[in-house]
Amino acid sequence: MGHQGAGLPPHVLLFPLPVQGHVNPMLKLAELLCLADIHVTVLVSNFSHARLLKHANLQSRLVRYPGFCFRTISDGLPDDHPRAGQRAMEILTSMKTVTGPLFKAMMISNNCLASENRRPVTCIIADGVVLSFAGDFALERGIPLIYFHPASSCFFWASFRIHELIETGEIPLKGNGMDMPVSCVPGMEGFLRRCDLPGFCRVNDIADPYLQLLMAEFKKIPRAQGVIGNTFDDLEGPILSQMRNPCPNLYSIGPLHAHLKARLIEKMNSSTTSSNSFWKEDWSCMTWLESQPSKSVIYVSFGSLTILTRDQLLEFWYGLVNSGQRFLWVIRPDSIASDNEESQIPAELRDNTVERCHMVGWAPQEEVLAHPSVGGFLTHSGWNSTLESITAGVPMICWPYLGDQFINSRFVSEVWRLGLDMKDTCDRIIIETMVRDLMDVRKDEFQQRANQMAKLAKRAIHEGGSSYSNLNHLIDYIKSMIMP
Ligand code: UDP
Repeated sequence: MGHQGAGLPPHVLLFPLPVQGHVNPMLKLAELLCLADIHVTVLVSNFSHARLLKHANLQSRLVRYPGFCFRTISDGLPDDHPRAGQRAMEILTSMKTVTGPLFKAMMISNNCLASENRRPVTCIIADGVVLSFAGDFALERGIPLIYFHPASSCFFWASFRIHELIETGEIPLKGNGMDMPVSCVPGMEGFLRRCDLPGFCRVNDIADPYLQLLMAEFKKIPRAQGVIGNTFDDLEGPILSQMRNPCPNLYSIGPLHAHLKARLIEKMNSSTTSSNSFWKEDWSCMTWLESQPSKSVIYVSFGSLTILTRDQLLEFWYGLVNSGQRFLWVIRPDSIASDNEESQIPAELRDNTVERCHMVGWAPQEEVLAHPSVGGFLTHSGWNSTLESITAGVPMICWPYLGDQFINSRFVSEVWRLGLDMKDTCDRIIIETMVRDLMDVRKDEFQQRANQMAKLAKRAIHEGGSSYSNLNHLIDYIKSMIMP
């Protein structure tokens, strides 16, 4: 296979877990590789491809990068599956059982995606969460394998230590002693508590199938020739040093969204990026932000997977209204649990806050966070949202919902001191107090820290910065993989 396509550029297959928070950074990485004259094929589920076709600007990407193409595959779930809330976890098992065999068959029958002007894939960059079947295939075929880790490195590192957490009896949590310190994650002694561990550790029994699945998947990551992290050394340096023990070839190249913008300016003199949204972006919020005072608005969004109960929705609503602050709230069309009660927000609240509040179904988040009127972010602490907020210098209130979000929020509040952690509670008085603290009482303290970290993020992605040079090393490495 090695000599097929001689003279053509390397060809990388990028395979994200098909959810918004994984597809988005993987597409940014794909563009960065295209800018380095590498051919890329991005493999997404039919479901996410249909979403992208409808709401993202795929055509502009295909025009801009002749070396870019999409392929699609089933995620194994029926079309009407919610793919959100706690049921989002079902994607993990269906990918493994249904998509895995389909992937292997597709790769073999398509001569590993070779075409007239493309080599067979010379490297597979697979999502580090649950796509180990792609890794198995790469190893079987002798195709170089790199894992892409779309979440924080602190999440990766804690997840990598699950065996030890079980051995020391720190998992299962059994719902008790959630505030007790965790002792066996090197680099996190002294601040990590049981409630900060990844969401899938919140089990009463170590036989829990998702705990077992993820534990096995994380253990397989060191078999890859390299690992890519969407993070930067000034943010997660001590954790990255720990990770380099099992994974020495580790490329921290984030924040990817800003890195792509910087490289586009450098290479094409344009910073225009294409949307990767699964929902229609409502730009009316940008017009609304224009008429708000500087740093006066708290942006509220819980990402692409969170589902709120009606009670939680009302607690947030009262907390925000009673804080007296202006707020811009993203309420995804599918983000409120339906029950028999009326799912509408009570009219009197809407009327009382109309001046101070704007609501949309989905926002152009990077642009919102970069707007000078935004002074805070009430977030679920998804890793992309966290990085986007850090890069824009916006302090956060964290309300984690699943997965890595529980540990991200601890790092935001205790390690980086960029905001407040509101995990495991949803109470209007606490929300009101925290919003006031972030936007008013402790505003200067958080803003100062956020400005410093934003500066470090920007330094990392420009020439001479750690992420900038790590990306160059990664590109050289991918180019070195092809046969002469
Ligand atoms: N996002 C967006 N508009 C919104 C809400 C979210 O564009 O109204 C984007 C956000 O910028 C981020 C992604 O969706 O890149 C969400 O990823 P994250 O890791 O923060 O959370 P997840 O959705 O995976 O829980």
